[in-house]
Amino acid sequence: MAQVIEVPVIWLQGAACTGCVVSLLNSFSTSIHTVLLRELTPGKHVSVRFLMPAMAGQGQQVIDVLADTAGDDYLLVVDGSIQLGHPLFATIGEKAGREVPMSQKAAELARSAMAVVAMGTCSAFGGIPSGHPNPTGAVSISELLAREKINKPVINIPGCPPHPDWLIGTLTAVMRYGLDAVKVDELGRPTEFFGALIHETCPRRADFDAGKFARAFGQPGCMYELGCKGPVTYADCPKRMFNSGTNWCIGAGSPCHGCVEPGFPDRLSPLYEKINEARLENLRVGGAVSR
Ligand code: SF4
Ligand code: SF4
Repeated sequence: MAQVIEVPVIWLQGAACTGCVVSLLNSFSTSIHTVLLRELTPGKHVSVRFLMPAMAGQGQQVIDVLADTAGDDYLLVVDGSIQLGHPLFATIGEKAGREVPMSQKAAELARSAMAVVAMGTCSAFGGIPSGHPNPTGAVSISELLAREKINKPVINIPGCPPHPDWLIGTLTAVMRYGLDAVKVDELGRPTEFFGALIHETCPRRADFDAGKFARAFGQPGCMYELGCKGPVTYADCPKRMFNSGTNWCIGAGSPCHGCVEPGFPDRLSPLYEKINEARLENLRVGGAVSR
């Protein structure tokens, strides 16, 4: 029987709502069962060694798994932002009887990882925890690596939450063809999933072009006047749709909020007001992101 190679994954959670993990666990095609237990790509199997919401173990025995994996060629997935305001805002395990700050552990694990995958907008760009006034000093994983002078490839999979395909597809490509096969945009997002504006493939685009705008929720027509950020948001939500292809934001009658863009939610706010034309260029270029 051919040997199956294990690709270890350590998944850390920073300041997060756990929605990114729940999104992955709800993956239908490819199923989470396949991701965790079968070969994701011929001859290669993801071995998720550490993922707090889905682990049976607890305490020192699971903390030891981190050290045991550190010598392997592993991928580090991080969801949630990293809080730098105080060392005890987020901790993971103990060393010599003292809590280990999440920022320290994330930097340490990133240093020896093959690559880092930032899962979700909080990890990729800071997201909701870093919104004004950012009381906990939350930053993206890229920002942490920049401050710690750690030069490591980071693939950003933003979304609030991201579609599970965006992570599984990226992991599969890395495992099958290598890191360099994943083409990313200037914000580190795989172009396979984040290469086109929502506005380009939105089913209401014909209404936009014809000047037919919804003036209230529930009305037919383009939602631009109701605050849709589809014209400045890069993701394949209209084609891919969520909940196993059931629906997506605009399909359900909500404007796109631009949840995959840097600076979400502050820079995209007010969410239910028409894009401020004066800020349009700022919205398009993606704002300040440390990478
Ligand atoms: S609903 Fe939004 S994404 Fe769709 S056409 Fe209108 S502005 Fe563009
Ligand atoms: S449609 Fe917009 S708000 Fe909804 S998931 Fe996609 S990028 Fe996020």
